Amino acid sequence: MYQQELNAACDYAHSFLYQGAVATYIPQLSLADPGALGACIALPTGEHFCCGDCETRFTMQSISKLVSLILALQTSGYSKVFSKVGMEPTGDPFNSIIKLETMSAKPSNPMINAGAIVISSLIDSPTPFEDMLEFTKKLTMDEGVALDEKVYLSEKNAGMRNRAMAYFMMSEGIIEGDAESYLDTYFKMCSVGVTARGLANLGLVLANDGVDPHTGERLAEDWMVRIVKTFMVTCGLYDSSGEFAVKVGIPSKSGVGGGIVSSVSDLMGIGTYAPALDKKGNSVGGVRVLEYLSQNLNLHMFAKR
Ligand code: GLU
Repeated sequence: MYQQELNAACDYAHSFLYQGAVATYIPQLSLADPGALGACIALPTGEHFCCGDCETRFTMQSISKLVSLILALQTSGYSKVFSKVGMEPTGDPFNSIIKLETMSAKPSNPMINAGAIVISSLIDSPTPFEDMLEFTKKLTMDEGVALDEKVYLSEKNAGMRNRAMAYFMMSEGIIEGDAESYLDTYFKMCSVGVTARGLANLGLVLANDGVDPHTGERLAEDWMVRIVKTFMVTCGLYDSSGEFAVKVGIPSKSGVGGGIVSSVSDLMGIGTYAPALDKKGNSVGGVRVLEYLSQNLNLHMFAKR
């Protein structure tokens, strides 16, 4: 049943890909194939159902914000983290600067770029990126996870806006220490290569409240996972999060590399890859796959099961 529905979801999504375009503001991302589409469902039993390009490697981009938030909560604790970053959705684009000056230098939430840069300053470790990489391997159950050097350098060169935000927040005392090293950590985290299958596994661990269902190992405390999934609902699809919550209703996080990770509590993880993005930066194909699966498998978080 899952395989059939997934195939049908991919077929449905394919017909919308032409409506999107790959990201170009990070030059290396513009090399992605706009016709690519892959999706994977991971179940607690260890079964995987895949269609299309579900083993293609692409960079996590904003999806890394979930992983870095857990690491910051683990190493700096709840109070410190939320003294530096808020909990409110913005309704603004992910790289918007405006509220930092007009509202508060404390970023509204950890899922926008400004918030994630602060979060990277709150990973209390001498090796924040290496920790993040190891943690991502575990969460995605994928030893092939690695830094995409070309995307990293491309991001670093093109990251003027992120740099501007980091230095502004430093001038306001939100970021303390070495802004360049936090930015470097952030750029690297965004440039970690994953697959749709790996994202499905990540979604599954979140669906299972932080425990890898195959090994029984607890990878994150359940209260941290609850926080992460709440942000996925309220801020996971940039300034489309409200519409996505109504139409799809599955806690999800997208990235401009074309990935979306989704987590259906107690049931499954879903990973999608389709680098053609809509105007707000969400994967056109991924959103359509999820819309189809939500309707046909009754996955909306408020659906009666
Ligand atoms: N590295 C990207 C940036 O900083 C991440 C954006 C995203 O995926 O939303 O703009």
